[in-house]
Amino acid sequence: LMWQADAQSQVVVDLDAIRANVRTLRSNTPAEVMAVVKADGYGHGMVASARAALSGGATWLGVCTLDEAFGLREAGLATPVLAWLWLPGQPVGRAIECDVDLSVASLSQLAAVTAGARAAGRAARIHLKIDTGLSRSGAAAPEWPQLVEAASKAQADGYAEVIGVWSHFACADAPGHETVDRQLAGFADALDVAKRLGVEPQLRHMANSAATLTRPDTHFDLVRPGIAMYGLSPLDDPAVRATLRPAMTARARVLLAKRVPAGQGVSYGHTYVTPRASTVALVPLGYADGVPRHASNLGPVLLNGGRYTVAGRVCMDQFVVDVGDAEVAEGDEVVLFGPGDQGEPTADDWAEAVGTINYEIVTRFGSARVPRIYR
Ligand code: PLP
Repeated sequence: LMWQADAQSQVVVDLDAIRANVRTLRSNTPAEVMAVVKADGYGHGMVASARAALSGGATWLGVCTLDEAFGLREAGLATPVLAWLWLPGQPVGRAIECDVDLSVASLSQLAAVTAGARAAGRAARIHLKIDTGLSRSGAAAPEWPQLVEAASKAQADGYAEVIGVWSHFACADAPGHETVDRQLAGFADALDVAKRLGVEPQLRHMANSAATLTRPDTHFDLVRPGIAMYGLSPLDDPAVRATLRPAMTARARVLLAKRVPAGQGVSYGHTYVTPRASTVALVPLGYADGVPRHASNLGPVLLNGGRYTVAGRVCMDQFVVDVGDAEVAEGDEVVLFGPGDQGEPTADDWAEAVGTINYEIVTRFGSARVPRIYR
């Protein structure tokens, strides 16, 4: 992919890869696929990622905030959308009017939904959330019957339609972890309780990418993959990785290349000192663009066919690479990470170098100042 004359850094998103990943996930389950496009599509662009996922066979979209859901509607997407992190003071009535499904994890959220439905003049579509052990959102088991009863009453009164019952795993990325079975059993109990109280949802859903990839018994009616649709694996498993195509490439162009003497301190704090006379290349990406400052002296790059490591501290807008005696010129391409098929590092390599997860690497790069282009 060529550089335009005026571009110094880019995040390139391969929408075909997203489409192919969703198609792969879809072909391995009878369940529907909810493409999780929160956080600007994990940095890949919410609307473009949503469209690519839909063309790959997804039939639902999942987001965190009401604003994200409104963004999808404003882009003209009429697909069912679930929003799961909202406060009762937010525009619930507007969400109902534009057909956004709402997660309900508490009686106060149910009260907000009822009020919003009254204002909107129609029933809210809700998904009751049971906390089966993540201890994050969701009603805990002792509060569950009360939430179901209240939802059942709201349904009878015409304020709500219980579309789904759902939960989320804590440790699905560690195959064989005992909590997966325990959470699954808790989910089955919650569904039994709901049924006894007269609530039978159309959709039961639990599986994130890791569970989608490794545990067909968690798929139920719908799966909610996020990271896997962007081509990254939540599991440290080469066989799983091989089934996915990473969609994001982060790259820049050398802004300046120059010779420096041996023993020269590089970047703030002089945490790197040239071991010999060297050529250093300036890369116009910094922590304001998504490069973690923790990548100082650790982050890998590909430059003119060679692999190098960030030399010294990552600054707000730039970092330096020591290429020794290699030929480097202004304008040469530096790839931070990509699919890995051209010898470049991957988001997994960056995550490992920096001590984080691939999710954080791509999400950081996508939400910052670097221009994003699609291919
Ligand atoms: N479901 C919920 C409720 C989530 O919060 C997330 C993301 O964190 C996902 C599904 C997708 O998870 P993953 O990206 O691990 O597939």
